[in-house]
Amino acid sequence: DNPILSPNRQVEDADAALRPKTLAEFVGQAAAKDNLHVFIESAKSRREAMDHVLFFGPPGLGKTTLAQIVARELGVGFRATSGPIIAKAGDLAALLTNLEQGDVLFIDEIHRLNPVVEEVLYPAMEDRALDLIIGEGPSARSVRIDLPPFTLIGATTRQGLLQTPLRDRFGIPVRLQFYTVEELEKVVSRGAGLLGIGIDKGGATEIARRARGTPRVAGRLMRRVRDFAHVAGSDTITRAIADDSLTRLEVDAIGLDAQDRRYLRMIADIYKGGPVGVETLAAGLSEPRDTIEEVIEPYLIQLGLVARTARGRCLNDRGWSHLGMTPPAGPQG
Ligand code: ADP
Repeated sequence: DNPILSPNRQVEDADAALRPKTLAEFVGQAAAKDNLHVFIESAKSRREAMDHVLFFGPPGLGKTTLAQIVARELGVGFRATSGPIIAKAGDLAALLTNLEQGDVLFIDEIHRLNPVVEEVLYPAMEDRALDLIIGEGPSARSVRIDLPPFTLIGATTRQGLLQTPLRDRFGIPVRLQFYTVEELEKVVSRGAGLLGIGIDKGGATEIARRARGTPRVAGRLMRRVRDFAHVAGSDTITRAIADDSLTRLEVDAIGLDAQDRRYLRMIADIYKGGPVGVETLAAGLSEPRDTIEEVIEPYLIQLGLVARTARGRCLNDRGWSHLGMTPPAGPQG
């Protein structure tokens, strides 16, 4: 497989270096930014903690970055953790009791919180209090500890992954969208500047078109193309250099990699275009269902190559033509 297009965080990602630090520097997501700006200013003028925020959308679209920006613009501290890391209720209690007035607590992958830990979060979010059980057996008693006002920012790939009681406790749900090619061109040009390499318009467009609507992927492709440019002795990324390096990395003209093409081919060749269930595809591709649903499919659906229907996944006309195939004749599922 070709991890270069994975929207998931990888160690090599110098994510931090490319991260915008202010809402003004943050490209795209106009609706989300406008709303956040209002909530930030309002919280600041009331001198209160901002309401809890839930960011949802595919990986690599800027959820963590926006959470950091919100804290910075509010002028408060930022603490980050993630759902699977918080093993025990006590771990969360420790994090919460260490917060200072107005701080932002960011919980990435909040849908993966252990249910026992989630129970601790409810009163913390709602009443800014912690209910602790002290002691064991008949002498056990519950004590309530007040927490400083704080803002919880949760991030998840899909809103539907959260239990309703948790979802309902976020006052500000914010959906992040895939970026347009124009927006990604800006991300790429800005990133090139930060990495100290030149890039022309054609080079930026070529990388942006192949970055699957995702800034994290754009940043990664740009670093790889920069390596090729350096080796070729060029101090500017041009369209030709970008195209040549990305083709060598097996990233096609619309940003699909070998894994995407295997997925499309399986539906086309074996299931005659579908419908086929996601479990069947997962087994056939030897990929976890989550990877199919959260990493592979969102972008293919966004491009209109594939549709998710109640009866399973179907290849659209665009999917067939991207594979250079024609749909089989006869009645279609
Ligand atoms: P997520 O938390 O949604 O997985 P991140 O916030 O970690 O995504 O962002 C991934 C990478 O993409 C980071 O390097 C970040 O700097 C970059 N990035 C994300 N959104 C933007 C944006 N709007 N403008 C510029 N760079 C961005």
